[in-house]
Amino acid sequence: MYIVQIASECAPVIKAGGLGDVVYGLSRELETRGHCVEIILPKYDCMRYDHIWGLHDAYINLWVPWYGAAIHCSVYCGWVHGRVCFFIEPHSQDNFFNRGCYYGCDDDNMRFAFFSKAALEFLLQSNKRPDVIHCHDWQTGLVPVMLFEIYKYHGMEYQRVCYTIHNFKHQGISGVDILWGTGLNREPYYFQYDKLRDNFNPFALNFMKGGIVYSNAVTTVSPHHAWEARTTDVGCGLGHTLHLHQDKFTGVLNGIDYDFWNPEIDRYIPYNYTQDDFEQKAYNKKALRERLMLRHADKPIIAYIGRLDYQKGVHLVHHAIYYALNKQAQFVLLGSATEPAIYAHFQHEKQFLNSNPDVHLELGFNEELSHLIYAGADMIVVPSNYEPCGLTQMIGLKYGTVPIVRGVGGLVNTVFDRDYDHNVPPEQRNGYVFYQTDHHALESAMERAIALWYEYPQEFRKLAITGMEYDYSWNHPGANYVEIYDWIRHKW
Ligand code: ADP
Repeated sequence: MYIVQIASECAPVIKAGGLGDVVYGLSRELETRGHCVEIILPKYDCMRYDHIWGLHDAYINLWVPWYGAAIHCSVYCGWVHGRVCFFIEPHSQDNFFNRGCYYGCDDDNMRFAFFSKAALEFLLQSNKRPDVIHCHDWQTGLVPVMLFEIYKYHGMEYQRVCYTIHNFKHQGISGVDILWGTGLNREPYYFQYDKLRDNFNPFALNFMKGGIVYSNAVTTVSPHHAWEARTTDVGCGLGHTLHLHQDKFTGVLNGIDYDFWNPEIDRYIPYNYTQDDFEQKAYNKKALRERLMLRHADKPIIAYIGRLDYQKGVHLVHHAIYYALNKQAQFVLLGSATEPAIYAHFQHEKQFLNSNPDVHLELGFNEELSHLIYAGADMIVVPSNYEPCGLTQMIGLKYGTVPIVRGVGGLVNTVFDRDYDHNVPPEQRNGYVFYQTDHHALESAMERAIALWYEYPQEFRKLAITGMEYDYSWNHPGANYVEIYDWIRHKW
């Protein structure tokens, strides 16, 4: 099959979170299975050019219709760790992708509506006719809308679309001007509830809703999150739309790329290890302590790695730090906060705890350090308010770092409580789970984990090794996506 991914991220060249990891990892898996995959991305000024090999002009005269006129674009091609990527660069005063950031501009709707249009125009003009177009998140929600309302009539009638939602929180809520920009026009037609009209704001259009309505298949990133999105407030107002389209909606658990996230071959960690020489992990713990200037003591290290925002349960992250210190554990936090108030809060905590030799807070994004933390910590805490899939608990498992998670979204599908999960045989349980959002719930799980580490170290070791034996690679999800692609190609 010939598959084109259209996305706003692809790790490691453009990565703000899990979306980038998924676009890269899934593409790689599909290629391993013999499919041809190409990835279309914006050409941001701030992406990691050092991860692109052989960047060259691929199509220099792309004219993209926009507001009744056209914007001239160049398309570059290069290899990102073996994947073929096309980068679209518009030449206009809007400077859509030369902003020094990926997201967070006032005109994000316009930027990504333009990107979606440019990606389709590139496919059309360069005569690329993929069997399946796979788009991701709100940024590319208009791709299936434009494909089936415009491009289908220009020679792209056989293309099918799979749309994956990684986060329902951001949906691309926009005004009517987007219709004039993209050439969709016909305001009364699209402002229908069965089309793009937002379910709650009658004066707004919703990109993600467009993606759900128009795509041939819609997925989200774990089976439990698919259920939550349809039946609880986690769907952020799209539950009814998903319900109406439930026949084509499913959850496929993300995988992680074991070529990149694997303690056996990880080049960012000083001591490689497997479950057979698990003792080596202790040397990484030592290296982590040295790197972060933590004291050497017979204590477990509990880690948090991730964005610091409401989704991730920052109030519980904060509590976990002090609870760990109280319970004679050490704590390492690696987190980036875009919200000024949250950043200021953790910056304050960092200063307050500065002289404490049992804790280190690192604010910012640091890929390399994250590997050392996964390898050196004993436990990783993921207390999310909601978590579509979550990669950090799966990476933690692979590195023998026992996850302590809140039972939501993909965390439910990947972590099974050592003491209480009666759906899974005891020898297959791999971590600790709590359900409520209060301090007591978090404490109950952390206390059990810390107690096991101190009182039954052999049992703790067994638990960590059980986690390492789980297969959360792209193998299964890759097969699931191929099935979905086959299904949409033959059904429609
Ligand atoms: P998100 O909601 O951000 O997509 P995921 O758990 O799905 O969360 O994916 C997070 C990914 O980003 C993981 O690979 C994690 O290691 C990485 N990550 C998150 N925050 C940081 C950070 N501050 N520094 C380095 N890597 C980070």
